[in-house]
Amino acid sequence: MIAALCCLVVLQVVFSNNPSAEQAYADAVSEAKLRQDVHDLVALGPRMGGTPSGDKAAALLEQYFTRLGLKTEVFTDPPKLAHWEDRWQVTLASGELIESAWPYGFSASILPSQGGSHENGRAGPPITVQSLASATPTPEWKGAIVYTPGEVGRTYAAVASSDNRPLAILTSAPNDPPRYLDWTRIGELPAKVDNAVPVFGVSYLDGRTLAVAAAAKTTVRVSLTSHIEQRSPRTVVATLPGREPGKYYLVCAHGDSDSGGPGADDNASGVATVMEMARVFSELRRSGTVPQPRYAIQFAVWGSEYHSSKAYIDRAGAKLRELAGVLNFDETGTGAEREAIYFESNDVPWNATLLKTLESVASDYAGKPGFWTEYTTNPSQGGTDSYAFLPEKYHGTGTTTLEIPATTIYTAAWDHLADLKQTPGWESKGTPDPVNLKIDYSLYYHSSGDTPENTTDREPQNMVRAVKATGLALLRLNQ
Ligand SMILES: [Zn+2]
Repeated sequence: MIAALCCLVVLQVVFSNNPSAEQAYADAVSEAKLRQDVHDLVALGPRMGGTPSGDKAAALLEQYFTRLGLKTEVFTDPPKLAHWEDRWQVTLASGELIESAWPYGFSASILPSQGGSHENGRAGPPITVQSLASATPTPEWKGAIVYTPGEVGRTYAAVASSDNRPLAILTSAPNDPPRYLDWTRIGELPAKVDNAVPVFGVSYLDGRTLAVAAAAKTTVRVSLTSHIEQRSPRTVVATLPGREPGKYYLVCAHGDSDSGGPGADDNASGVATVMEMARVFSELRRSGTVPQPRYAIQFAVWGSEYHSSKAYIDRAGAKLRELAGVLNFDETGTGAEREAIYFESNDVPWNATLLKTLESVASDYAGKPGFWTEYTTNPSQGGTDSYAFLPEKYHGTGTTTLEIPATTIYTAAWDHLADLKQTPGWESKGTPDPVNLKIDYSLYYHSSGDTPENTTDREPQNMVRAVKATGLALLRLNQ
């Protein structure tokens, strides 16, 4: 406790604020640009690392940062198995289209050739299997289309290797609590080229239609053209120079859609947040409105979540010792139940300065027009690129043993409201309950519904807040 108080006193002395620079920075943040950036990214496709839409996103970002006058590099990361899907269709014999169908990642093509049409897809009688987990494939499954409400994951391997394996599996998320009603939760099969049974997610409502079709023994036809290949993701890194050498900050986000779906919130929102921070800093710097930062700021968009941030660490070598802090964005585009902004990993001791600075910015601006109402730091949860820089003890990957401050800034995580006990000593002043935190979530998490219309267009204030909170903290940390 005494040590913590000492730190607070030191912080106030070291990081004096520059109110006019802070005002200019906050005023320059453009909600319209943030929204447009998300639209431009989502229009390219799911942007998975190593895929054609991922390469297009990297080219867009390279051009964007270069136009800002930043030194921009594009790195070719080590290859990994990538998947992308060109087109697919699921129809009933009646001609009715199962519009919500979305293939799971690593589902192999089910057309006879690249040029095949949907009519050359596979057709079979649908059968409903209430729980794939407790079912054993019977001869009835062979040549059929299995519809199942619920999870496919753990039982998939047994079904795919069975002699009685079906032509395809269609699966809908359960509607309890109510979500994925007319949009589709998207999953992924094991990362290999020869998964024997393609899987399509469908919405809850289309699941009801399929159950009726199965009862009426209406034939279902499925087609899919997909690619599963070893490919290299591309990571774009742009640098705003500092006055002094020897240290730098890293502002980053994963550029691929987490699910293989549109990924507007997860994570075009995070990429747009990086883009807007880079724009505001470089334009204000050029006009002399804000001082040149003490240390350089690197803006990075990872080609593939974790894979590319780990590759960055491997490439950096001894240079990584100069990394003063990682500010990562993941899901800054929506929130289901709260109007909160979160700063993660306050349980990491060497994050204290970074997170206290973010917290002081949050406290200073809370409730003002154009800012947040609710804010908090929170303990480590794992699952995004700041954890490539942290040890396993804090949900990290242990890729480096250096004690690099690393946080993720976000407005939603996961698919449900999560209860989290606050780290002792970090009781939150910006939430209704200082100790029992409610972590907001996305209704459209990892789904076909993660579109700009449902997330970033509906609540663009989230990205604005992330750009402001992080930039203002950097102004205080790095002047
Ligand atoms: Zn993500």
